[in-house]
Order: sequence, then C-alpha cells, then structure tokens
Amino acid sequence: MEAIGNTPVVRLGRVFADANVVAKLEFMNPGGSIKDRMVRAMLRKLPPQAGRVVEASSGNTGAALAMASAVLGLDCEVAVPVATSREKIRRIEAYGATVRVCDGERGPDYQETALDIARQGGAHHLDQYRSALNSQAHYGDTAPELWAQMEGQIDVFVCGVGSGGTISGIGRYLKERNPAIRVIGVEPLDSAYRKLVTDLPANGEFSSAIEGVGKGCASPVFEPAVVDDVVQVPDEEALAWIHRLAREEGILAGGSSACVAAGIARLLPTLGNARVVTIFPDSGAFYLSKYF
Ligand code: PMP
Repeated sequence: MEAIGNTPVVRLGRVFADANVVAKLEFMNPGGSIKDRMVRAMLRKLPPQAGRVVEASSGNTGAALAMASAVLGLDCEVAVPVATSREKIRRIEAYGATVRVCDGERGPDYQETALDIARQGGAHHLDQYRSALNSQAHYGDTAPELWAQMEGQIDVFVCGVGSGGTISGIGRYLKERNPAIRVIGVEPLDSAYRKLVTDLPANGEFSSAIEGVGKGCASPVFEPAVVDDVVQVPDEEALAWIHRLAREEGILAGGSSACVAAGIARLLPTLGNARVVTIFPDSGAFYLSKYF
C-alpha cells in the first residue's frame, strides 16, 4: 500500500514535438491505475468492524480495492459494466475478489447492483460516484505530488472525466495555488459533463467504447466550478491515439489516456506555448484483447 504514488511525469516530446505536454503515468501504481490512491484514502476511513467491501467500478477501482482487500483481509465484491475488458475482470479476480458483470439492459446496472449488495449483505460501499472522499483523495495526494514534480510550472491541466474525482480534486488544488491555471476536461461524444460547464444542449444518447471516461448521467462528484471547459472526442479519434502513444512514445496507455491525448491534440492550436499537464490513468495492457 505504501508503494502507491510517486508516479513519474514524462514529456510527450514525440507526438507533441512542438509543444510542451507532460503526462503523469498513473498506470505505474501497484494496482495498475490512478484509482489505487482513491481506494487507499477511502479505506483509511473504513469502519473498524467492516469485513466486507463492495464497489461499482469500470474495473480500475475494483482492482485497487481487490488489491487492498487482499492486504487487509477483507472480502471484496465488485460490480462492473458488461463492456468491461476481459483483462480488467480477470485482474480483479486474480486478487481473490468476486466480480459481478452487470448488463444494465437486461437487469440492474453495475451501480444499482453495488447498492443492492451493500443494502442486503451489510458490506461497506465505497460509493466513488457520490463520495466526497473521491475528489479529496486527489486534492490531498495526487495534486500536491504533481505540483511538486512540476515545480508549479503549469498553465493548463487537461484531464479525462469519469466520476469527475480526478479533475475536481486536482483542478481545485491547482487553482488554489495559481488561479490562472486553466482546467479542461475531456470525455467521449455525448457524455454528460460538457453541458454542465458550457450550457451546450445534449446531442444523442451516450455510448462509447472507451472505458473509464464519460457518463450518460453526470456524477455529483464532478465540480463544474473548477472546470473551465470540456472537450468531446469521437471514439475513433481517441483510439487512433492509443496506437500513437504506444508506437511513437513507447507508452502503453489505456483508452482514457488516448482520449485525453486526442483532446490535447484538438486544443493545442488554441494554447500557444502553454505548459500542458495531463494524467494517464491506466495501462494499455488492460485492453490488449479489445483495442490492439
Ligand atoms: N480513466 C480510467 C481508465 C478510469 O478507470 C477512470 C476512473 N473511472 C478515469 C479515467 C476517470 O477518473 P475519475 O473517475 O476520477 O473521473
């Protein structure tokens, strides 16, 4: 658990050769994603008698919780959406946790399923999509680490949005240090967050093959007040970047990292020579069977 954090920052000097773009490689956490940090912070508040934990996850929070549960001797159950990659499901199971794959079209979706398990079985529910501890973990841990590594040399923070915990916690911290820093979210087409920030009307129904970012229904964890703009990227454009990052930068990152890289590529013409910082939440190794 103490190996969580202190992830490196790397300049994307090949794909963004004429710009100044740095990515913090959160897939280098021991559980494989940025969610290790949030789960560690949440388990510090776990009621002492709790022996069972449950969570709804697109896979990474589940793996972080399964890893921590192995360390702490907790029973762990994770509800994931049916579209979750095989590697992510097997990774959760490898730590000894139970996975419930939920097809929201045929029955309760993964968030409802986690709520049901918590209600019926007395398991402690982390509830990342509603808990204030989600963004607080990034405010108290990820953000100060990033600020110190960059020595405050940040003009624009660009971040994928799933629950909104990462962008809200880091964005709030950065703006407190320097109110001139711009905070920009990236999400797939027709996701729910852009309209909270820009008042643009909703388009079609949300549907994306990119795991971890985008929601049909916005999570209350997302803080519109700290986000200046949200860019939407079509899946095909995001997925082209998963290959560019691997082949040109040697960074095997996941689909949400690729989505944010595509968003940065769209934004760069408007950013001049701004110092841009982003987060790569998880690894492409979790999507080998899906995207590669
Ligand atoms: N990318 C991936 C791969 C994720 O698993 C998540 C978490 N759902 C995110 C991005 C988004 O992070 P957050 O929930 O903090 O908005």
